[in-house]
Amino acid sequence: MAEEKEKLIPRAPVIVVLGHIDHGKTTLLDKIRETQVAEREKGGITQHIGAYEVEFQGKKITFIDTPGHEAFSAMRARGAKVADIAILVIDGADGVKNQTKEAISHIKEAGIPMIVAINKIDRPESDPNKVKRDLAKEDISVESMGGDIPSANVSGKTGKGLPELLELILLVSEMEDLKAGLTAPAEGVIIESYLDSRRGPTATLILTSGTLKKGDFIGTKSACGKIKIMEDFQGGSISEALPSMPVIILGFENVPRVGEKIQVFPNLESAEADIEVVEKKEEMTSVDEKKKVLNLILKTDVLGSIEPIGEVLENLPQEKIRLNILKAEAGNISESDIKLARSTNARILGFRVKTDPIARVSAERDKIRPLIFDLIYDLVEGVRKLMERLLAPEVIRTDLGKMKTLVIFWTEKNRQIVGGRVTEGEITKGVSIEVFRNEEKIGQGRLISLQINKKEVERAIKGQECGILYEGDVKIEEGDVLVIYKKERKKPGTLE
Ligand code: GDP
Repeated sequence: MAEEKEKLIPRAPVIVVLGHIDHGKTTLLDKIRETQVAEREKGGITQHIGAYEVEFQGKKITFIDTPGHEAFSAMRARGAKVADIAILVIDGADGVKNQTKEAISHIKEAGIPMIVAINKIDRPESDPNKVKRDLAKEDISVESMGGDIPSANVSGKTGKGLPELLELILLVSEMEDLKAGLTAPAEGVIIESYLDSRRGPTATLILTSGTLKKGDFIGTKSACGKIKIMEDFQGGSISEALPSMPVIILGFENVPRVGEKIQVFPNLESAEADIEVVEKKEEMTSVDEKKKVLNLILKTDVLGSIEPIGEVLENLPQEKIRLNILKAEAGNISESDIKLARSTNARILGFRVKTDPIARVSAERDKIRPLIFDLIYDLVEGVRKLMERLLAPEVIRTDLGKMKTLVIFWTEKNRQIVGGRVTEGEITKGVSIEVFRNEEKIGQGRLISLQINKKEVERAIKGQECGILYEGDVKIEEGDVLVIYKKERKKPGTLE
C-alpha cells in the first residue's frame, strides 16, 4: 500500500461547466481562456479542441470546453468519469431554470463537488441573493447562506469575479486531494472527436491516469490505432502526456465516440479485439441476447398522433430487430431529444414537427439526423428501412489463389512491393491477403495494385510471375506464401 501511495502525484482538477441555456457558460469559458492562458503561449491558436488548461497562482486547471449537459451526459452514459468539479452557472437576473435543475441532478448523480457561479452580475437587474434563495429550494445551500456549497458572483462579460472563482476551484480541488499514478497503464476519456479532412481521425482526450506516449497502441470501445502525433491543447507537438492534460491525438483508424474511455494496449490486435467484444455487447439487449434493438424517440404535432403511430410501429415484424420507443411526446424536436439520442444511440422520428434552432446546432455537431415525416405511411417505411439496415450483412469469403514470394523490391512502413509466382488459381486487384510463413499464418493485408512486366493488370493466373503492392500488418519475406481471397458482403435479408 505504502509503495502504491508513493507513486501517486498531485494532478490538476478537471472542470466541467453546466447550467441553463443562455446563462453564459460559453462566455465564461471564453473569458477564462482569454484572460488566463499566458500571452506568449497563445500563439494565435483559435482551434477549439474541447478542453484547455490554465495556470492560476502557479497551479494548473483543466477546463472541459464543451458547455452544456450533452458531453457530460455522454461521458456518464459511457461510464467515464473525467470531471472532478462542476461549475453551475446561473444567470443572476434569470435565476434557477429547468436546465439548472437538470444540471443539479446530473452533478449529484456524478457525485462530484460543485461551485455555484452566479453570472451576469454586471447587469443591474441581477439579484444574487434571490438566486441563492431559489437554490435553497433545490436543496443547494451556499456558503453565504450557512450551507457548504461555495459560490462566486461573476461576470463572464467583464471578467469580474473570475479570480475569486478560480481561487475557489483551487480550494475545492485541494480538499479533494486529486492524485494520479504515472506508472499505471495510461487511461483517459475522449472529450471531442472528428474527422479532419487533412489529418484524419482526430481526438481530444484527457488522461485520468498513467503516462501516454507517442507510438502507444490505443483503443476505445469503438476505435483503435497507434499514436502518430500528440499535441497539447495549443497545437504544440509533445511526445508524452500526463494525467489531467488535454491532448490531441492523431493515429486512430476511425473516429472514436465522445465520452468513451481510452486505454493503452500492447499491440493493435488486442486493441482491435477489444472493440469487437464490446460492440457486440452494446448492440444486444438484456431482454433477448440475440436480438438487436433500435431505440426511437418520437415527437409528434399533437398528442393524439402518438397512439396510432405507436400501434403501426408495433405491428412491424420484430423477430430480428426489436423496436424500443424511449420517449414519445408532442412538441418540436428539442435539445434534450438530441441529448437523449446521443447518449442512447437512438433515432429521432418527427411527425409533422420541426427541429428547434438550438437543437439543430447540437444535432449538426453530434451528426444526429432526425427523420421528419408528414404521413404515417412514410414514417413506418422509414423505420422499416432503419431496421433493415441494422440486419448484419453476411460476409462471404472466396479463396482465389496463392502466390509464392520470390523477391522484395521495396519496403516502406506498412507497404511493400513484392514479386512472386502465382502457384494456384488467380489473383486480382483490391483483394485480401493472408501471409503464411512455414505454413503458419503470421499476418494479413490488402493487395492494392498488380503488375506483370511493369504493366498494371487486372489479374494474374497460375504460372505467371507478377509484382504486387501490398499493405498489411506484417513485413513479407522471400519464401512467404500469400493466400489471396475475396470478401463479399451479402445483402442483409428482410425483416420477416
Ligand atoms: P450559454 O448558452 O450558457 O453558453 O450562454 P452564452 O455564453 O452563449 O451567453 C448567452 C448570452 O448572454 C450572450 O448574449 C452573452 O453575450 C450574454 N452574457 C453572457 N455572460 C454575460 C455576462 O456576464 N454579462 C452580460 N451582461 N451578458 C452576458
